[in-house]
Amino acid sequence: LDEQEAFDIEYWLLEEAKLQRMPKPKALAGRVALITGGAGGIGRAIAARLMAEGACVALADIDRASLDEAVGGFRKSFGRDAAIGLPIDVTDETAVAAAVRETVLAYGGLDILVANAGIASAAPFEDTSLELWNRNFAILATGYFLAAREGYRVMKDQGLGGSIVFIASKNGIAASAGAAAYCTAKAAEVHLARCIALDGAPFGIRANSVNPDAVLRGSKIWQGEWRAQRAASNKVSADDLEEVYRQRSLLKLSVYPEDVAEAVYFFASDLSAKSTGNFINVDAGNAVSFAR
Ligand code: NAD
Repeated sequence: LDEQEAFDIEYWLLEEAKLQRMPKPKALAGRVALITGGAGGIGRAIAARLMAEGACVALADIDRASLDEAVGGFRKSFGRDAAIGLPIDVTDETAVAAAVRETVLAYGGLDILVANAGIASAAPFEDTSLELWNRNFAILATGYFLAAREGYRVMKDQGLGGSIVFIASKNGIAASAGAAAYCTAKAAEVHLARCIALDGAPFGIRANSVNPDAVLRGSKIWQGEWRAQRAASNKVSADDLEEVYRQRSLLKLSVYPEDVAEAVYFFASDLSAKSTGNFINVDAGNAVSFAR
């Protein structure tokens, strides 16, 4: 090496070292997300994950007290502009459209739509009333449809693409005993994401599902009747249920809200730029065998 070449290399190495030390821009900086059921266990974990990557997040939920608490906490952690709360019922078409409009007004656009608001209910098949069936479909399949359609319209008009993510369920691809209405509505969500992927591809709008298995920690669903029903059908006490699911999983691991949020982050960000109409099971391996 002559003196000039040695100097150039040293200069280049120093510049490279400086670049390495500079803070990296956040992956979702400038992006806007709307999460239905954002005040629930999984919804909050998703919101926190997206905000940590720089996104502004609108949380839509029917539970106003939970919503206020969640938004207050996020503003403390991520700043005043990081989160807004939208009290809506996802089965109300007008309210869902208004929530999407408010998100756009507040943050200037919409890039990520996470449909997650949900309930769970179980009943032996012969006792599954039409009311129970319709309620599952209204909140899950139809609620996801309405949120996705309103988000899709905005994304298409913006012309910047977008990502729609459904929190479906392992039960949407592998049936679970005594929960026909819930499982079938979850299967509809998984398939709806595929349909949206086909329509959205020409506009850069992607749609994918995340399918968790039982996430007991933080979930309000698991504080209600569902827990007793699942415990009875597994012939264990409600307190032992989390351990039963852990033992049943292929990897012998419990699934937590943060695990689900990580998969959502993948689908929401450019990491998954080449994935659409897909799903990720966050289930510690449970869906591998349909008999489980
Ligand atoms: P959660 O009860 O903690 O959260 C669900 C949220 O949805 C709640 O805040 C609730 O108020 C809201 N919600 C319910 N009905 C609504 C409506 N009509 N309009 C607006 N908001 C409404 O439960 P979670 O475990 O966080 O569940 C989130 C999603 O994940 C659900 O779709 C659920 O089916 C799915 N999921 C959960 C599990 C699990 O084991 N926890 C497993 C697979 C899939």
